[in-house]
Amino acid sequence: MTTAQLPPTLPQVSWSRRHLLGLEELSAEEIRTALQCSAYFARCSASGEPPRPLLAGKTVANLFFEDSTRTRSSFSLAARRLGGEVLDFHASASSLSKGETILDTARTIEAMNVDALVVRHRTPGAPHLLAQNLQASVINAGDGPHEHPTQALLDMLTIQQHRGRIEGLTVALVGDIAHSRTARSNIWGLLRLGAHVILCGPATLVSRRWEALGVEVSYSLDEILPRCDVLNLLRIQFERQQARPFPSVREYAHLYAMNRQRLQRARPDVLIMAPGPINRGVEITADVADGSHSVILRQVTNGVAVRMAVLWLCLCVAAGESG
Ligand code: ASP
Repeated sequence: MTTAQLPPTLPQVSWSRRHLLGLEELSAEEIRTALQCSAYFARCSASGEPPRPLLAGKTVANLFFEDSTRTRSSFSLAARRLGGEVLDFHASASSLSKGETILDTARTIEAMNVDALVVRHRTPGAPHLLAQNLQASVINAGDGPHEHPTQALLDMLTIQQHRGRIEGLTVALVGDIAHSRTARSNIWGLLRLGAHVILCGPATLVSRRWEALGVEVSYSLDEILPRCDVLNLLRIQFERQQARPFPSVREYAHLYAMNRQRLQRARPDVLIMAPGPINRGVEITADVADGSHSVILRQVTNGVAVRMAVLWLCLCVAAGESG
């Protein structure tokens, strides 16, 4: 067997956090550790090597109070592929409709000997409240417009795989920055790892106040386009908006959709990313979403690896069981 054929080895890392609530609170070192472990699980999956049952005996409960396709499924797959059990909680079919609070619901689930709660809720800070009041690990799977840490980790893993680094790259987050948890988590993670971050979108959705964090703010995609190594195209979060932030979707698409004409003016190796769900014809046209620069489905694949890493770090490594 040559070195290239050897199975990847589980990284020996140190990690003390039982909860993953956001990237804002993580150091650059912690983000690098999470990415290193994610890369390991991605390599295991790519090599067809069955992952070790690192979560055997552990139960992960998905508590999703908001809709999800990618995040919920990939947390479930991640836990199962590592030998853990998964409990899927459906808010609409639960006692919440009978007046039970989120904390009582979470305590009830925890009492069934659950080791981790993966929580998505429309209220910013809901996972933090649970983390303060429960023994189980709490992983934030999206709290309103606040944070979505595993999304940003999988975005960064995808960039690293294609560019070999994050430091020094110019990454633009384009679209509804005001209401996007993906944007917030990406901003913290990318800045900490030394990227130049540009926030781009209409003035009603991108505030100059963000510049205080050390990011660039632009209202013209056409102006920034030739400078970007990565374009992460964010969905307009209509479900979080009180009023329409622009006159029409057509006008938005005219100014901000990534389309074939714009792609011709971008760097030849530009990476096109989107957290999904994508709205074809709004933030991205179908030919660009399905074209050769797009790594959107690679992001989805990486989502499973990142969630394996996060569950292993918070449930096992933080408890001194590195495997
Ligand atoms: N799936 C991502 C999220 O849950 C992005 C989106 O919904 O647009 O935030």
